[in-house]
Amino acid sequence: MRVALKVDVDTHQGLGQGVPRLMRALTDEGVTATFFVAMGPDNSGRAIVRVLKNPGFIAKMRRTGAVSMYGWRTVLSGTILPARPIALAYPQVIRALAQAGFELGVHGHDHVRWQDRLDAIGETGVRAELAEAFEAFRAVTGEPARAFAAPGWRTSAAALRALDAIGVDYHSDTRGRAPYRCAIGGEIFTTPEIPTTLPTMDEVIGGPGLTERDAVVRYYLDRFIGGELNVHTIHAETEGMGELDTFVAIVRALKERRARFLQLREVAAELDRGALPVCDVRRDTLDGRAGWISAQGDARGHAAAALSA
Ligand SMILES: [Zn+2]
Repeated sequence: MRVALKVDVDTHQGLGQGVPRLMRALTDEGVTATFFVAMGPDNSGRAIVRVLKNPGFIAKMRRTGAVSMYGWRTVLSGTILPARPIALAYPQVIRALAQAGFELGVHGHDHVRWQDRLDAIGETGVRAELAEAFEAFRAVTGEPARAFAAPGWRTSAAALRALDAIGVDYHSDTRGRAPYRCAIGGEIFTTPEIPTTLPTMDEVIGGPGLTERDAVVRYYLDRFIGGELNVHTIHAETEGMGELDTFVAIVRALKERRARFLQLREVAAELDRGALPVCDVRRDTLDGRAGWISAQGDARGHAAAALSA
């Protein structure tokens, strides 16, 4: 069983507090991971206001305990309190990750703006978000970013076109089954997509029968597939904070099952772009998550055949 842990870092607090804890836990367990950091301002308060405006999600807020999980400073960030920077507030944390051998990538500039307004900001807005994020990444690490993960698993033709132009080695923008090349509206994109294959813990916790730690660990163990690449996205704000013990229990159980942990760049290095299936990217919804996400749709055949057609 191969397991790639993808760590999304969405907030100032997640990078400052969650990431150091996760880094220590992963190092103690001898397990590697790929960290995707939102490079720009932390407007997560706006995301929470959005959730509160939608009565259907108040129950989820209560269930997941967003205020106790994030704290009031994060809940209000970008609303009545100013947005705090994320990557630029903690460059030493990002550099420590690189020094410890973890892989780093870009998780957008303004996570909330991308997630809420991806279509509204248009091609120019998308390019500006990416340019700011990639520039900040280079400023902090001294290296160009080689990988991108879309905030909120939301992508578009404009975003995929811009990422092809930047020339990243791969992106991890969608939910799906296995690596593929993206197609939207007949347009086929070049960069390989490595989708997240498992539900995230914030989607799972609090569901029916899923309040106790043992039940959550069992839920995940039933879903990792032997002989396949499993891409599991975790959050600095969830597994790095209140759910660290649950996460470590899952990692230990996977180690007992002789899982091999690898970074997404190792997965990308093994991919043959021409041999990857081309799949439509469609907009879908998931249990436990507000709004739409991008998902791997049906295959249209292999990339080489699709391109020559
Ligand atoms: Zn995120």
